[in-house]
Order: sequence, then C-alpha cells, then structure tokens
Amino acid sequence: MDVKSIQIEKEHFSELRDKTSHNSEVAALYDKLLQETGDTAFFNRAASIRVCSQWWDTLYFRIQQVKDIQRVNLCKDKFCRNCQSMLAIKRQAKFSPILDGLQPRYEICHVVFTVPNVFGDELLPTLDKMYKNFKHLTRFLSGNAHIRGIDFLPYGYAGGLRALEVTQNLYDKRFHPHFHVMLLLKKGIDFERKFINSFSFDEWVLVRKFSEFEILLQKIWYLLMNGIPVTKEKIIQLKEGYSVTLDKAAKGEYHEVFKYACKGAFKEDGSLLDEETFPMLFFALHSRRMIQGYGVLHNYKDDSLEILEEDLTQNYDSIVAKLKAFEEPIFHIESLEEILGDKTCSYISKSNLKRLMIERKRQEGEGVKG
Ligand SMILES: [Zn+2]
Repeated sequence: MDVKSIQIEKEHFSELRDKTSHNSEVAALYDKLLQETGDTAFFNRAASIRVCSQWWDTLYFRIQQVKDIQRVNLCKDKFCRNCQSMLAIKRQAKFSPILDGLQPRYEICHVVFTVPNVFGDELLPTLDKMYKNFKHLTRFLSGNAHIRGIDFLPYGYAGGLRALEVTQNLYDKRFHPHFHVMLLLKKGIDFERKFINSFSFDEWVLVRKFSEFEILLQKIWYLLMNGIPVTKEKIIQLKEGYSVTLDKAAKGEYHEVFKYACKGAFKEDGSLLDEETFPMLFFALHSRRMIQGYGVLHNYKDDSLEILEEDLTQNYDSIVAKLKAFEEPIFHIESLEEILGDKTCSYISKSNLKRLMIERKRQEGEGVKG
C-alpha cells in the first residue's frame, strides 16, 4: 500500500460541501429554540452544526506534498445530513457482515411495523409507545411472554435488529413513524400469502396478500399500541390490525435498517422542515436510540472488526512511517474550501483507509460467493 492507492478522492470533499449546505438552516432553527427555551444546549448545537466538516487538522509533509488528516470537527447532529449519512454507512459496515454471517442459519426477514400517521404534537408519545410495545412484541416471539393458545415456537425466532424511521407528508404535515426490522426466523420457513385486507390495496388496486403470520403480527401490534390486553380471543375478535409487512431479505439487502431516522423529513433538495414542525421532530427524536438489537443480535460483538482494526493500524502506521522517514511534517489547519482549492496535495486519513479496507473485504466475500 502506498499514498496514491489510499488517497481521498476530491469528490469526497465536494460531497461534504453538498451535504452540509443546509446546516445553516438547521442552525437557525436551533437559534430559534434557544430564544424560546433559553436552554444554552441549543447554542452549542447551532454552533456545532454550523461548522460541521469545515475545519481540518492535518500533518503536512511539504516536500512529498501529502496531508495526513488527524481530525475534523463533526457535529454528529441528528439533523446534519452529512453526519447522519456517515453514521448510516458505519452501521451498514458493522451489521451487514453480521447479518450475512447469520443468513445460512436463519431466514432473515425485513418487517415493517406501521402506525397511523400522527400530527406533530402526537409524535413523541406515539414513539414512546412504539418503543415500549415493540419490545413487548419481541417477548412474545422469543417465548419470554405468552399468549395462551398461540405458539410462536414454529417460527423459530432468534433475534432482530430494529430501526426507526420517521417520514413526513409534506402536504398535511403529518408524520409517518415506522420501524424497519430485520427479523431472524427459522431457516426455510414458508409464508403462504392468502389473506386480503385494507392494507392489500394501493389506490383500489390489489397489490399484496398477507400470510397468517403477518395478520397475527398486525393484530398483536394493534392491540399493544391501543393498550388492549393481548389474548387469543381479542386477536380473533379484532377485524383488522395495523399495517405490518414481512418480506424475506436477500444477502446484503438490509439497507432499510441503516437509513437514518429523519431522512424522510428532509426534502429532495436537502432542505428541512419548517419552523413549526422542526421542534416537534427534534424533541420526539431527542436522546432516542435509533437502532437496537434483540436476541442473538443484542450486544453482538463482531470479532472480525477487531482484526480489521489491527490490520488498519499496521497498514496506516507503515505508510506514515515511510513519509516521516523522509521529512518531519508540520501541523496545519485548513478549511474545507482550502482543501477543495488545493490541486497539488494528496490527502490521506486512517478512516478513509478503513473504508477502503471494508469495501475490499466485502468484494472479496462476494467474489467467494460468485
Ligand atoms: Zn455534521
């Protein structure tokens, strides 16, 4: 490995500029919250999101024309498109190989749990209920809680990965909160779809039939969300639950759970919610855990990532050692605009090498398969 093979493409930096281009709008929304609440935490948020990705610490090798990036200020704000898409990529890098590794043993199903759309002031309590009730639902699946007369054992549930997504209808401003879940079920389980209900239609066209398991999940989800005790009788009596769909996921097709929670709240051009709905979404998502593992995916530790980390440090250190053998670098701070204007230097960073190594590893994995 040498500097040329690991240098960061200039497109990466121009992408950062695009993805942070609306951060000043978000900062203005935080400024407004600061005025309204007097909570200085909003001052810090505004300041932080304004300068996200703007300043870079580098070690500058002047003769060799290489800049080794040491750190960059990232805001990690839930409403920063840049930080959130980075987080989505990180999650995907972490969980995709785990799910791929579990697929020979389990059927991995993509399940979407939906509730009726809500207005902004109902969003927070609705999310609270969804979080609590989803956990309850996994306890039925795992056998830690029982519904007399209903046996979940044949489904062979082993765990799941749950992510929240909130989208917004831009016309009536209502929010559409839903969970994307990767559910691990018994390998080879077959779901015959033969039931039709109101969720089967899209503008009066039949688009989908449901399996018995989907109907069961729909009804349990409805009963839980409405605070009705979940019994076999109530399930039979209930005509229709809330929308739940289940589809088998192919290898590597898990991206739905890695998307970030409020992606749907951004418009196509990346601009954000209006002043009225932003605080509602902010407080509803505040300090909420976006991705959660259950069963075998609870606190899952991936050893291969540790090995990757060791390789990464070794590879990177040896590249930097070669540069240092030639000259001592100087500490240098520059702005994103300066980086974009620099036509001569190669930029390298440990995190970019990590990204390349993960990509290479994935390609190798796919090569073995093909
Ligand atoms: Zn950011």
